[in-house]
Order: sequence, then structure tokens, then C-alpha cells
Amino acid sequence: MKCIEPFTQPVYITQPVLPDANDVYMKILEIWESRQLTNNGRMVGQLEEMLSRYLKVEHLSVFSNGTVALQIACRLLRLSGEVVTTPFTFAATAHSLEWSNLTPVFCDIEETSMNIDPRKIEQLITHRTTAVLPVHVFGYPCDVKTIGNIAEKYGLKIIYDAAHAFGVEIDRIPIGAFGDISMFSFHATKIYHTLEGGALAFGNNNYKNKATGLCMKNRADILRNFGISGEDVVAEPGTNGKMNELQAAIGILLLDKVDAEIAKRKELTCLYRNFLQDLPGLTFNTDIEGIKYNYPYFIIRVDDKVFGVTRDELYRKLKEYNIFAKKYFYPLCSDFACYRHLPSAAAHNLPVAAKVARQVLALPLHGSLANECVEKICGIIRMIRG
Ligand SMILES: *Cc1c(COP(=O)(O)O)cnc(C)c1O
Repeated sequence: MKCIEPFTQPVYITQPVLPDANDVYMKILEIWESRQLTNNGRMVGQLEEMLSRYLKVEHLSVFSNGTVALQIACRLLRLSGEVVTTPFTFAATAHSLEWSNLTPVFCDIEETSMNIDPRKIEQLITHRTTAVLPVHVFGYPCDVKTIGNIAEKYGLKIIYDAAHAFGVEIDRIPIGAFGDISMFSFHATKIYHTLEGGALAFGNNNYKNKATGLCMKNRADILRNFGISGEDVVAEPGTNGKMNELQAAIGILLLDKVDAEIAKRKELTCLYRNFLQDLPGLTFNTDIEGIKYNYPYFIIRVDDKVFGVTRDELYRKLKEYNIFAKKYFYPLCSDFACYRHLPSAAAHNLPVAAKVARQVLALPLHGSLANECVEKICGIIRMIRG
């Protein structure tokens, strides 16, 4: 058998896209000149406009991070009681509910898309349910049509966690147009980032509240700034969720680079698919006609009975070759100590999620990864399988 040497440098699953340092310096000079570092400055205003255009959503606000944006979304919609969500996500999804005094109700997922299974939502709805919080996991869009119908039937709000879905479109409809609110994360590990940051897109629901005269975006901008609505007026208990000018400047510069990053990741994704397609017991998703993807992660599923090696063994052996894959998402949110007491966290309620969480592994994928690295990683996986 051919022997492959480990990588001399560690290969991580991602690496942030960086703007040119000189361009950042020019932006810093501009900010210094203005002496405005935060509080809804020029850069933030400009970024919101640019993002509205890129994401094709009319109304959008930016925040210091995606998690605080999710919490603000819960307040904006005045949610209470229970919210149906997925356990197969990052901790922030369930935590945002808990921090908003809402009870997460975990719903099982679909085997292939790994998104919330709409066929299992209805049986979890009670008189206390006020919303659903699905996640477009790994940028694959949820079944937005069925979820929309269920929400309408039961009078529920929909917040989409679109942290992974920057730029995704379904039949040319932008992902941010679905549901009442969509949250995007601009954390440094995401495909588009502002160091830390996030946004809410208000879909087509930027309606004016009759009592306050405020539309959703107005209220979101007030809530991210302590609830201050005028010089001497604090309208409601807000928080500090403001994006600062330096974050916004990074965002402005990186918006020019995101298409190239997505294109490169698509190329690498195709390479992975080619090199791994004939390996029994190892599967991955492919593109579905009509969906514009953003290729944020390359996720494989390991069926150990067929593959002959468990996901955890593969993860450990890859490390010996200096390849740092990630068990993403594992463990399920419903298995965290803070949530496993919930009735909906019971294993019999979430059989598909439990199976998927045992099988998934994210492999390295970012724009500065060389094609040869992907080829070598696939060769090593082949060798580990034996
Ligand atoms: C990254 C992420 C978040 C949190 O966003 P932050 O900007 O890091 O606060 C929430 N949900 C999902 C699915 C994420 O991947």
C-alpha cells in the first residue's frame, strides 16, 4: 500500500478570509478622521445598504454578533412560552431561546437535509407554542414552504437561523425573504464575516406597529442600543448589540471577496465529491437543482458498519496526519446538561438527529486550501479505511 506522509503544517477545517491590510488601514484613517467609533456610524449605515443589496432583502439591521441578533429577534416578535427548534445546530440557537425565557422544544430532523423535519413539527405544537426556529444547516435551505404553511395554520412566528446561509437562494428567491425574520452570523469562522457580527433580515414583514408607529427595523435599531428611542426617551428594555465602525469596515471590504471565496469552495467541494464518491459507507450531499448554494462546509457522513471505521476513529486518525476535522454538530443541543431534562430532548423523540450526530464530520474547506491538499486528504481517508 502506498504510504502518505502527514501534513507538515496543521490543516484546519476553516481559515478566515482576510481583507488586504492596506485597505483596512485606509478605512481606519477614515474612521479616525470621523472620530465616530460606534453608535450607528457611517460605516454601519453603508454596510447595511450593501448587505441589503447583496442579500436582496429590503430591510436589514446589523449587530455585534449573531447570537445577540437572535435574542433581539425573539423580543421583536414578542415571543413567549415554547419555540419549536432543531437539536442539530450550534449551541447559540437553543441558548438564544433560553436567554429569552423561552422553552426550546426539540424536533427531529430529516435524514438527508439534516434540517428540522416539518412532518414532525405539528405534533410538538401546544397552546404555549408561539414560534418555530428552524436552521438552514450547512447552508442547505429548510423546507420553507411546508414550514410556512404550518406557521400560518397555527398562527406561529418563524425565525430562521440563517447563520450558514449567506447568499443562498431558492428558485431565485433570497433566503432572507422567508419567515418573519432571518438571522445571519458574521463570525470570523463563517464564509462572510465582520470579525464578529450578525444581521437580521426582516423579509417582507417590515410592517408598522399601529400602537408605536415603528416598523421592525426601527425597533431592532432601538433594541440594539439599550432601547433608547430619543434623546430623553428609553422606549423598552433593550440591550447592547451594536456593531462598531471597525467591524463594519471589515464587512465592507470583505463583501467584494465573498463571491470568489464561494467559487473556490465550490471547486474544492467538487474535488472532494469526485475523490470520495466511490467509497462505500461514506456519503455526502450534492447540489439540488434550483438552489444557489454557498458551500460553507464539506460534511461527510460515516456509516461505520459499511465503512469499517467509526466516525470517531476516522477523526482521531486524521489528526495523526495533522488534519483537524470537526464533529459538527456533535453533541446535539438536546444532549447538553442544561437541556436534556426537557421532555422533547428524550432520545425516542429524536432518533434521526441522534444517528446523524454520530455520523457527521466536517472536512477542511476554505478558499486558501490548495486543490492538492484536498486530493491528499481524500487519499489519507482512503488509506485509513484500508
Ligand atoms: C455561528 C452560529 C451562530 C452564532 O452566531 P455568532 O455570530 O457566533 O453569535 C448561531 N447559529 C448557528 C447555526 C451558527 O453556526
